[in-house]
Amino acid sequence: MSEEIKRRTWVYRQPPKVYEMAACDCGNQDTQWSEFEDYLWCEQCRKDFIPAHNGIFDGPIPVHLAEMMGIRFDRVMIETGEVERFSTETLTWEKEKRHETGNTGHQTREA
Ligand SMILES: [Zn+2]
Repeated sequence: MSEEIKRRTWVYRQPPKVYEMAACDCGNQDTQWSEFEDYLWCEQCRKDFIPAHNGIFDGPIPVHLAEMMGIRFDRVMIETGEVERFSTETLTWEKEKRHETGNTGHQTREA
């Protein structure tokens, strides 16, 4: 057993196939994020595996292009279940803003 396997502290909100990561050997593309870094989880094989390639993560990621294609990089913190949104402007994750109190009025969207 290797000591180098690290547990993830967060996972992307969208499943691995959104990022075009390699399928499991059994052909299952509907994989999930493993609890271990570098691994994915195959529900059909009930195993963690290292994907043959990491899809769009293997190259520089054109985040704006990705976003236009519907790919998001928001993440879920495993321990708390909190969602952090990825900003394509700052290229970092930001905690979802809580409803601020004390602000004036509500904003409604009316045409
Ligand atoms: Zn499998």
